[in-house]
Amino acid sequence: MKRAKNIAIIVAAGKGERMQSNLPKQFLMLNNHPILWHTLKPFLECSDIHEIILAVPKLYIEDCQNTIIQPLLNHYPFTNHAQKIRCISGGDYRQESVYLGLQAIEKPASVVVIHDGVRPFVTPKQISLLIHQTQKKKAVILGIAPRDTIKKVDNNGYITATIDRNLMQMAQTPQAFSYELIRTAHDLGRQNKIEATDDAMLVERSGQKVFVAPGHPLNIKITTPEDLILSKGIIEAWPPEENTN
Ligand code: C5P
Repeated sequence: MKRAKNIAIIVAAGKGERMQSNLPKQFLMLNNHPILWHTLKPFLECSDIHEIILAVPKLYIEDCQNTIIQPLLNHYPFTNHAQKIRCISGGDYRQESVYLGLQAIEKPASVVVIHDGVRPFVTPKQISLLIHQTQKKKAVILGIAPRDTIKKVDNNGYITATIDRNLMQMAQTPQAFSYELIRTAHDLGRQNKIEATDDAMLVERSGQKVFVAPGHPLNIKITTPEDLILSKGIIEAWPPEENTN
């Protein structure tokens, strides 16, 4: 019988309109490599990930193979990583790109780790920890507590409430799920036309519990030109100390 694999789905099929750049943000350069190069690296290095399904815009598949995947694999000539990355064409929305990634999984699959292609600051150790937690809890995401006071406002910008920030978490990726659970959640989401901004939301709506494990403030999503400035600072100190989770 085949051993069930742990699969990473990395979604990098966005157009990056908020970055005010012609090139989607996942392909912008950071320290001599495209952002997506940095994002893929810890997943390649993580021995608990057996396969990576990478969703990119159809137009960029060939380019991505030549300028990101191949150079990255050349970086690891001593191992059999060439089997590890499979590139697919993404969808019109993030949710659709993940769904297409799920469709591309060859069974049997154990844990599915879903990650944004524009979050380059995770470590192999964090990915392994998340997988181990998911083997017990079935659905685990990373989150961090907001540092600022959280206000709810009306349409005119006036505060209507101050939310207890101790009960708040800002959701990050990677988010990890047992294969069956995330397949069901995405199928139900499509049937019920739920538009979700992350995968945990679909799992919540399917009636399942999702655990939030401690994320890291450096695990930023590079979305705007300001994030790109921050990422240039972070990469200077990367990777963090081993004991940082
Ligand atoms: O849309 P947002 O900025 O939150 O994107 C988060 C991630 O989802 C990015 O890595 C982006 O490339 C990816 N995405 C995708 N397919 C889309 C839209 C976004 O894979 N159609």
